[in-house]
Amino acid sequence: MVQPYKHEPFTDFSVESNQADYLKGLETVKSYLGQDYDLLIDGERISTKEKIVSNNPANKEEVIGRVSKADQALAEKAMQSAVNAFQSWRKVKPETRADVLFKAAAIIRRRKHEFSALMTKEAGKPWNEADADTAEAIDFLEYYARQMLAIKDGVPVNSRPNEYNRYDYIPLGVGVIISPWNFPFAIMAGTTVAAIVAGNTVLLKPASTTPIVAAKFVEVLEEAGLPKGVLNFVPGSGAEVGDYLVDHKDTRFISFTGSRDVGLRINERASKLNDGQIWIKRVIAEMGGKDTIVVDKDADLELAAQSIVASAFGFSGQKCSACSRAVIVEEVYDQVLARAVEIAKEKKAGNPEDRSNFTGPVIDQSAFNKIMSYIEIGKEEGKLMLGGEGDDSKGYFIQPTIFADLDPQARIMQEEIFGPVVGFTKAKDFNHAIEIANNTEYGLTGAVLTNNREHIQQAREDFHVGNLYFNRGCTGAIVGYQPFGGFNMSGTDSKAGGPDYIMLHMQAKTTSEMY
Ligand code: NAD
Repeated sequence: MVQPYKHEPFTDFSVESNQADYLKGLETVKSYLGQDYDLLIDGERISTKEKIVSNNPANKEEVIGRVSKADQALAEKAMQSAVNAFQSWRKVKPETRADVLFKAAAIIRRRKHEFSALMTKEAGKPWNEADADTAEAIDFLEYYARQMLAIKDGVPVNSRPNEYNRYDYIPLGVGVIISPWNFPFAIMAGTTVAAIVAGNTVLLKPASTTPIVAAKFVEVLEEAGLPKGVLNFVPGSGAEVGDYLVDHKDTRFISFTGSRDVGLRINERASKLNDGQIWIKRVIAEMGGKDTIVVDKDADLELAAQSIVASAFGFSGQKCSACSRAVIVEEVYDQVLARAVEIAKEKKAGNPEDRSNFTGPVIDQSAFNKIMSYIEIGKEEGKLMLGGEGDDSKGYFIQPTIFADLDPQARIMQEEIFGPVVGFTKAKDFNHAIEIANNTEYGLTGAVLTNNREHIQQAREDFHVGNLYFNRGCTGAIVGYQPFGGFNMSGTDSKAGGPDYIMLHMQAKTTSEMY
């Protein structure tokens, strides 16, 4: 019998044996640095001349690996493979499909620190952040498998005498999975397996900065017994392969996680009917954030400052849920700001392979340039309290940066920076703070620090974000506990890790038989 779902515990790295295990993981990763990885189409490995080269963002010279790059002809081949495999995979028993996920989770659990160490190298994730990413990937496998089992016999509907009615969820068809680099394992794996366990076949196009962890995951699914053609691995350029697959007449749905602009582009292109297409494509699009922590005057101010720093600078602010705005009511503004600066100053930054570093690099040169240019804008718009410097000589390092006294409409309070930069602004009172918190086009996460019960209730009703937290930071949603997804320009609120996520990859069929 399948045991009830429980989330994967995080590793306590103060325990020496856990430290040793992680270092062993790093050694394993070092043993395969620089290797080549193929595409996987219909179970066949295909090597191309052109490669995507994945580098270590903390040490640009180090090549993590080289992945074959799909062009449109190979994308077409992968599409035909997925179309064919769908005919058999959709009829495979849900229990059998779920078993593939359970086995994959077990394989990953055994190689947990290797996967995390790979993300330390490929994405610049500090140990605890990488560990959480791997745990989340395991959680998605465990959770979606159980969700599929829960709905495998349909949902009850009424039947009159001599009538037998059923309401079943059936798969959609071929899905295109397009994933980001910032949760290179969890989001890539979660979006892929939700589609697969529901009976769909997929083409997976991972982010070009983190394709190696995706290639390793594809190997795990093969080892777990996934039949050929169900998952086709097609790394490639977003503009070339991405557009081609989004436009394709045989694409039934697209599951995208990434930036607002690419999400909107996909949504628009997917809405166009192409020759031979006989359905409206479904688009799941989870996009950016501009997430706010509100601090009330009646709050634990130490907790508030700690929460802001952890949510703003964990993984160098490169989370869609990261706190990039702190809105503080005026009575406690100076105190919270001063304490946040003090705490952030103590956090060490540097190569994430060294466990004592709290922040590592940002992902690549273009992210570095973009964040540095926002820091220049911030210097014009507000008061620089901490950081503001970057160094891209060896890797892409940017100091944790705090700006104060910003106008709520300032650019750095409105636009997603996606780096270690947080802006503080003062609110007249709690109502004003909530008004400011809602003043962006996004609506992903938010947090409120307050001991005022009425204000908690007010925020529950009026703070318009998909994930709202009280008396804690705004990052760190856990599969099955805090389903994750946002409102407005943050996306379609698909709620990854939630009870209805898998249904988004299915359609309901009513059957009625007379006896
Ligand atoms: P991105 O939009 O640049 O890329 C995401 C993916 O889209 C990549 O695989 C990329 O290759 C692909 N892509 C690019 N152009 C494409 C096109 N024309 N057609 C199809 N695919 C295309 O985003 P990113 O930099 O990888 O990730 C960071 C962004 O993701 C941030 O905005 C962050 O907030 C967001 N994000 C959101 C969530 C969420 O759950 N809401 C989670 C993680 C990240």
